[in-house]
Amino acid sequence: MPLYEYEHVNDSCALGKIFEIQHPMSEKALTKCPGCNNPIRKIISRINISTPKTNSELKDLGFTKLVKRDDGVHENVTARNGDSRYVRRDKPETLPNLKKTIRD
Ligand SMILES: [Zn+2]
Repeated sequence: MPLYEYEHVNDSCALGKIFEIQHPMSEKALTKCPGCNNPIRKIISRINISTPKTNSELKDLGFTKLVKRDDGVHENVTARNGDSRYVRRDKPETLPNLKKTIRD
């Protein structure tokens, strides 16, 4: 069952201003707090807000994304200059050079 975030529209109760409720997806969003019966509204989950990024966007943001290609072999789809395209578990030199990526 998915977990939903709700917030009190006005006064909050012991549940807090924002709280989470787990209920089936088929169930309509709650409009009243199960704790105090005051009006509440559903918050779009922060997790769902993050849209999937393309590999080049991730790269620009400084992320490294590895995609599993084989046992012990991951493709570095965000490889930067000088990085090995394939990361092999048994070859540490194929890991991305983080020192180069991380800057102040
Ligand atoms: Zn409440």
